[in-house]
Amino acid sequence: MITLAAVLLAVGAVVYALAVRPADVAAPAPVPARTPQQERLAALEEGLRDLEFEFRLGKLSEADYQKTRQEMEREMAELGKRPEEAPPPAAPDAGTVCLRCGARFAAPLRFCGECGQPMQRET
Ligand SMILES: [Zn+2]
Repeated sequence: MITLAAVLLAVGAVVYALAVRPADVAAPAPVPARTPQQERLAALEEGLRDLEFEFRLGKLSEADYQKTRQEMEREMAELGKRPEEAPPPAAPDAGTVCLRCGARFAAPLRFCGECGQPMQRET
């Protein structure tokens, strides 16, 4: 009996799904068309959250975290949006340069994003 009820329920659900024509359903609110930039931005925001999460879990080294974060934030800035918790834009001379590998970073870092060398502020 239970089986029969389950089968009837399943058949009913299928018939219902097939019988309901799109016109019967209230049109969903039109989803604003998203530009590729907005799609990318959304993906980056999501990725940034994941990155933060994994860093807090200790899955990422500080250098990896900083490097990936900087890359993502740079791309986000290029797409026209500043990340909410972004540090205030650094002055042009507040950047750091790695003494070991020569990589330059706009923001002061404690460690080089390229090679992991502890960084000193460029003055
Ligand atoms: Zn370096």
